[in-house]
Amino acid sequence: MPTDIEIARAATLQPISAVAAGLGIPDDALHSYGRHIAKIDHAYLRSLDGRPEGRLILVTAISPTPAGEGKTTTTVGLGDALNRIGRRAMICLREPSLGPCFGMKGGAAGGGRSQVVPMEAINLHFTGDFHAITSAHSLAAALLDNHVYWSNDLDIDLRRIAFRRVVDMNDRALRQITQSLGGVANGYPREDGFDITVASEVMAVFCLARDLADLEARLGRIVVAETRERKPVTLADLKATGAMTVLLKDALQPNLVQTLDGSPALIHGGPFANIAHGCNSVIATRAGLRLADYAVTEAGFGADLGAEKFLDIKCRQAGLAPSAVVIVATVRALKMHGGVAKSALGAENVEALERGFANLARHVENVRRFGLPVVVAVNHFHADTEAEHAALKALCRDRLDVEAITCRHWAEGGAGAEDLARAVVALAEGGGRVPHYAYPEEAPLAEKIRTIAQTLYGAADVQIESKAAAKLAQFEAAGHGRLPVCMAKTQYSFSTDPGLMGAPSGHVVAVRDVRLSAGAGFVVAICGEIMTMPGLPRVPAAEGIHLGEDGQIEGLF
Ligand code: ADP
Ligand code: MG
Repeated sequence: MPTDIEIARAATLQPISAVAAGLGIPDDALHSYGRHIAKIDHAYLRSLDGRPEGRLILVTAISPTPAGEGKTTTTVGLGDALNRIGRRAMICLREPSLGPCFGMKGGAAGGGRSQVVPMEAINLHFTGDFHAITSAHSLAAALLDNHVYWSNDLDIDLRRIAFRRVVDMNDRALRQITQSLGGVANGYPREDGFDITVASEVMAVFCLARDLADLEARLGRIVVAETRERKPVTLADLKATGAMTVLLKDALQPNLVQTLDGSPALIHGGPFANIAHGCNSVIATRAGLRLADYAVTEAGFGADLGAEKFLDIKCRQAGLAPSAVVIVATVRALKMHGGVAKSALGAENVEALERGFANLARHVENVRRFGLPVVVAVNHFHADTEAEHAALKALCRDRLDVEAITCRHWAEGGAGAEDLARAVVALAEGGGRVPHYAYPEEAPLAEKIRTIAQTLYGAADVQIESKAAAKLAQFEAAGHGRLPVCMAKTQYSFSTDPGLMGAPSGHVVAVRDVRLSAGAGFVVAICGEIMTMPGLPRVPAAEGIHLGEDGQIEGLF
């Protein structure tokens, strides 16, 4: 099998105006970035208000392992397959971040014959949305320090500035810095640090905003610091939001591209899945639902984090009602959950698969708690055996009464996921359902955290450090008690120990800290060590990337 970039390069792409025309989007509603990428104009999207909406399908997964699961690949394959069986489907995905692209993970535009293209552009600068978000965030950071420099009329306490800086690169050297060194003209020295752009609250706001006005209002609510009297200082107080919105206005228009099979895809926004909610913009999802009969979208990490936040945060805030959920599993990853080392995954091992099945079972049961119909997509890898797939299907049928479908879209494109598409259509027949959220809005914040941990993670209890508990009380006193919580926990385990695979129970979820993301509209619960600025590995992917003699990008994967 050729590499992802070789497959992507060999594809013949339609002009993006043709893809748009297939959706009924007129040429004058497009802002083209070359021949194969276009933003869809705000005014045109507004004109779709009131149109009946299609069915929303969420693609989520078992707890990730180094063996790989393929959520994006399956989202693309399912969208292609729906179009092949005669349903009009739009794929909605997050934009890849540059940092991971040069690190270990590589790109995030699907894989094999289920990719969105042009993959080089999508994985690199694309339409500059992340640069715009970095710029808007940087403007706010500069305005904050500038305010202190000139007069500090707001009485900002330099020791209590929560707003860090961002850059879209994995750069551990910037995690913690001392800034404003070098004398009076450079301001007041203080500790600061950088997060990767996807961790910026501006990114989360961008992805949850309904429109430009909502974007500006949310930016204004971002709390950046406290005064000497411990009063919150917001971006509205700093008068930052007008100029930030100006910087973000074009970026907020969703990006239209196509898959290798020619299906339309909107790729827009990309918040972290730990300290933020991990799904593409509400604007893109809404557009997808109005432009097609099915919008297929992905949530980051496993279903315990991705699906829970998609439902309790994004769907609740935006009033979205999904029709069905696809849980992606692989034989390889389940064998790892059953205790097999990565190096031994090549050998058939039905016993380990049965042990690891506990992880899938927990995720299926969790999604059902939300009252949504589920199907399991078993993403087929080359070394899988028939016996393993048969065993997994039987386990799903007998123990969970859920259908598991072997999918070969990675090797075959949309044709390999038609069975999955038919199953999704059947499940979605009932139409959109307002999820049974994991907790009511009016529950106290600590109760929300406990409910998620006990019902979805199988935890015995939570242990909220006293400092964090005091902050929760403070948030509630300030009127933020109705916000949903955004759990920042390892994606590798239902517990907070990344090494505990499978389906651990009876553990205690320790909440080390909590943070208010008042603009995004959630309270982040930090469970364990959460990295908001990744580093590069010993041998970064960047070392293998170069420009070939013919001007083609080589080594991107
Ligand atoms: P996720 O969205 O869950 O992070 P991706 O869909 O991005 O996962 O896939 C991760 C990597 O695994 C990609 O490089 C992709 O090409 C590869 N991959 C996905 N499915 C398969 C498969 N069935 N066989 C081989 N490689 C696969
Ligand atoms: Mg993905």
